[in-house]
Amino acid sequence: MRWEGDRQSDNIEDRRGDGGGGGGFGIGGGTVGIGTIVVALLGSWFFGVSPSTILSLLSGGSPAQVQQAPAHPPANDRETQFVRTVLGYTEDTWSQIFRANGATYSPPRLVLYSGRTSTGGCGMGQSAVGPFYCPADRKVYIDLTFFRMMQQRFHVGGEFTQAYVIAHEVGHHVQNLLGISGKVDSARQHLSEREANAASVRLELQADCFAGVWAYHTNQAKQIIEQGDVESALNAASAIGDDALQRQSRGEVVPDSFTHGTSAQRVRWFTRGLQTGSVEQCNTFEARQL
Ligand SMILES: [Zn+2]
Repeated sequence: MRWEGDRQSDNIEDRRGDGGGGGGFGIGGGTVGIGTIVVALLGSWFFGVSPSTILSLLSGGSPAQVQQAPAHPPANDRETQFVRTVLGYTEDTWSQIFRANGATYSPPRLVLYSGRTSTGGCGMGQSAVGPFYCPADRKVYIDLTFFRMMQQRFHVGGEFTQAYVIAHEVGHHVQNLLGISGKVDSARQHLSEREANAASVRLELQADCFAGVWAYHTNQAKQIIEQGDVESALNAASAIGDDALQRQSRGEVVPDSFTHGTSAQRVRWFTRGLQTGSVEQCNTFEARQL
């Protein structure tokens, strides 16, 4: 995938290093990792200060600061630049599509974190559930170790595959803006579990189709796709489980690995978006065959 030198989005929060990896504990609203606690305990042992004093120093600032305004600017490594560039592509593409339909696109923010992090209304984000979108605070959450895990465990990867994952999450944001996820959420409350799962599948497949629409338009504008890219992304679509769907009513991140459609369905809808570049082609809710 070719992306170097293109615009990088500023809609990014880099929380890595704010709380450390491993399990975290919310203290005073901030997130503190196990590592920090160990340091704090060692610190109090060696320096003779109470652990809570050191913890408050290490977790730093008010809860609002921890969540809303990261203490440090985003890192500037290649991986971060890549994520910011892909997010920038989604902003350009969706702004253009919304404008063409007489609407205005308001982009999501993307949170980079490690281990665990708090969300604004979707419970604790944990890297174990993979990347996810929280409709309540309109943020995409990604722990980049997920991409490494994808590579190691499923042997799928490459930058275009990672871009597809990000575009899928942004696809959920688009569904949120269009009111689709809201409708599905309220409908779900009157449905049996099986019907509710079926609705979730359609929502997930539509996000895949939106990711394809994104890829089509971005490639038209920026020629990002290189040989083998699409094959790797399709490989990933059929190999990996998806993000956990956010259950706002329950206020927690629920992994639901059974509600993302079959591999063949995911490949089909991503391809459909990629080939047509048309949002209208992504109406999974009225499709007779998924
Ligand atoms: Zn999803």
